[in-house]
Amino acid sequence: MTTPRHTQARQPPDIDRIARLGVALDALFPEPRCALDYRDAFELLVATVLSAQSTDVAVNRATPALFARFPGPAALAAAAPEDVIPFIRALGLYNNKARALVGLARDLQGRHGGAVPADLSALIALPGVARKTANVVLQNAFGVVEGFVVDTHVSRLAGRLGLSAGGTPDAIERDLMAAFPRAEWARRSHQLILHGRQTCDARRPRCGDCTLAPDCPARGAP
Ligand code: SF4
Repeated sequence: MTTPRHTQARQPPDIDRIARLGVALDALFPEPRCALDYRDAFELLVATVLSAQSTDVAVNRATPALFARFPGPAALAAAAPEDVIPFIRALGLYNNKARALVGLARDLQGRHGGAVPADLSALIALPGVARKTANVVLQNAFGVVEGFVVDTHVSRLAGRLGLSAGGTPDAIERDLMAAFPRAEWARRSHQLILHGRQTCDARRPRCGDCTLAPDCPARGAP
């Protein structure tokens, strides 16, 4: 396999190239959706916290039993982290995640009446919730679009596609928000995540099978 030219200088995004990338992403993923299973904003918030350094498939396997035992913020707020651990042990970082979930539920109970706020500032003020998690919840549970979901796939794709040279998720998100029209932010977030999972692998990107290749400055040569 030819190594993609990941390290070459960033290709400035231009309107035509961005539009072509959008068309190609729409063709690849016409109806992208969140891969986490959830029934409401609370479940999505919990699932997103659990998805750190885990797979959505593994999270979806764990959450039905977790939500059966702790069906909402009140039940989780009343639990001790040790009560939560058996339900999430398979997901890694389970000590930290259990503490985070209980802290989160207690904050929701104490400051928001047990409801997940549909507001970016309020969400990122919750313990353990950064912009990525907040954007996932806002976009998918509330239909509110304030930015891009910048996870590891989106970070990698943004760099390879020459859409951002940012060194932090916040900087990458700003560049993506500038590159794409606001109406596309949620859809493009999903599509970039899916493309990162399916084709633009971190270590072995399959440039030969990639329909974005004509507009990707990191594509393998020729
Ligand atoms: S897989 Fe596609 S998006 Fe990723 S580096 Fe190769 S050509 Fe670019």
